[in-house]
Amino acid sequence: MTQAIAKLLVANRGEIAVRIIRAAQALGIPTVAACSAADVDSQAARMADEVYLLGPARADKSYLNVEALLGALNATGANAVHPGYGFLSENADFAEAVLAAGAIFVGPSPETIRRMGDKAQARRTAQAAGVPVVPGSPNELFDVESALRAAESVGYPLLIKASAGGGGRGIRLAEDARQLSEEFPRSQREAQAAFGNGAVYLERFIRRARHIEVQVLGDGQHAVHLFERECSLQRRRQKIFEEAPSPVLSQQQRETLCASAVRLAESLGYKGAGTLEYLYDEATGEFFFIEMNTRIQVEHPVSELITGIDLVQAMLRIAGGEPLGFTQSDIQLKGAALQMRLNAEDPARDFFPSPGLVETLVWPQGEGVRVDTHLYQGYRVPPYYDSLLAKLIVHGADRAEALARARMVVRQTTLSGMANTLSLHGELLEQPWLHRADFHTGTLETWLAERHGGGEA
Ligand code: ADP
Ligand code: ADP
Ligand code: MG
Repeated sequence: MTQAIAKLLVANRGEIAVRIIRAAQALGIPTVAACSAADVDSQAARMADEVYLLGPARADKSYLNVEALLGALNATGANAVHPGYGFLSENADFAEAVLAAGAIFVGPSPETIRRMGDKAQARRTAQAAGVPVVPGSPNELFDVESALRAAESVGYPLLIKASAGGGGRGIRLAEDARQLSEEFPRSQREAQAAFGNGAVYLERFIRRARHIEVQVLGDGQHAVHLFERECSLQRRRQKIFEEAPSPVLSQQQRETLCASAVRLAESLGYKGAGTLEYLYDEATGEFFFIEMNTRIQVEHPVSELITGIDLVQAMLRIAGGEPLGFTQSDIQLKGAALQMRLNAEDPARDFFPSPGLVETLVWPQGEGVRVDTHLYQGYRVPPYYDSLLAKLIVHGADRAEALARARMVVRQTTLSGMANTLSLHGELLEQPWLHRADFHTGTLETWLAERHGGGEA
């Protein structure tokens, strides 16, 4: 019993709320911006057909407040919810509550979210579908003794990871048994405090890995991939600069990797947009699944630019009961795309958060240029949320052209009123190792540390 989307509630904020409203408007779907008190003058609120006040600025009183969101559905008559990323986007209980209220959750089923949102369980699901995972503990661990025992077969160095973790948080390194005994209880406490779930597991630490992820799209019957993204340039395990396709995969490797992701998605009867994240060990040529994100991702635009498919529109169509409408052979990889995340953080002061008033704002333009943002001149960036201000995205016929366009884009952009990461991207784009694509997940931090003493090992 599928129903069409008659009115969409956007349960998020910032650039992704704007992005979702844009997609809905293109499909002729009326929108409601569900906002906190800090966001009533936001670009999303300006664009939406209606604004609904969820509660005060604090996320637990607004964007994480399930009762308030259900109240918003009821009050506005919206019959669908797009959760964006972060907040409640991977919360199975929320998805279930939306369905119970008779509305559409734009995403996979609560069962799928539950199964893949728990990282330890997702590893087991991947293994069952024949997708290799990083060697690690088969189950969640609850005490130091079992962790030390499990570590003997996992091997050091290893990572202690929160099953419910995300956004680069809840991950700690242990080089040996002594460190594991020390860090294990800390990880449990941290996971409990941050995610409301103290379960952790162990994974061997792969030192020179690349982070390569596959975008999938499914309608519950069929799944396709939109090729891969390379997201190895990270700070504190958070992505800063992303690209598609990965500059290091052969056509053969690409096909094998993407086919494994589609197999996994089809084994789940996957509905909506999702991402399977892998680590790639360049030394051995091996891929290991690390997690699945059952939502739209921050870096989705690079996949859109190389395929011409609008992922957010596709999510809305699928949620409204439409079939995919295309097959794998309809999806062609065209050129190369890059994304630079502009964050309200000061690269000269160890990325100290720097929200503020947008004074001068000039966005880049030209062929192959896209800006996803919620900023406007005179807008005051509130201090309560994620530091993402904008994504500067470029597309070129090949990687060299995309890099050249990225340089132009950085020079054309002006954003004054708050410290931000624009200058960091300018410097990054001058690095020969970036142009050679010679990097792994530790490279950016090593470079930052050598350059300013500002990075972190
Ligand atoms: P992506 O995987 O799309 O690049 P990130 O991992 O950077 O996205 O996460 C996007 C946003 O979602 C960030 O604001 C991040 O802090 C938040 N986030 C992701 N997973 C979780 C989680 N499990 N709990 C809380 N916040 C999360
Ligand atoms: P999150 O849910 O926070 O996104 P992930 O499991 O995706 O957590 O890991 C985030 C990042 O941490 C990866 O992109 C990678 O850089 C690093 N990482 C995760 N697992 C490993 C591992 N086993 N070995 C080396 N690095 C890892
Ligand atoms: Mg991840």
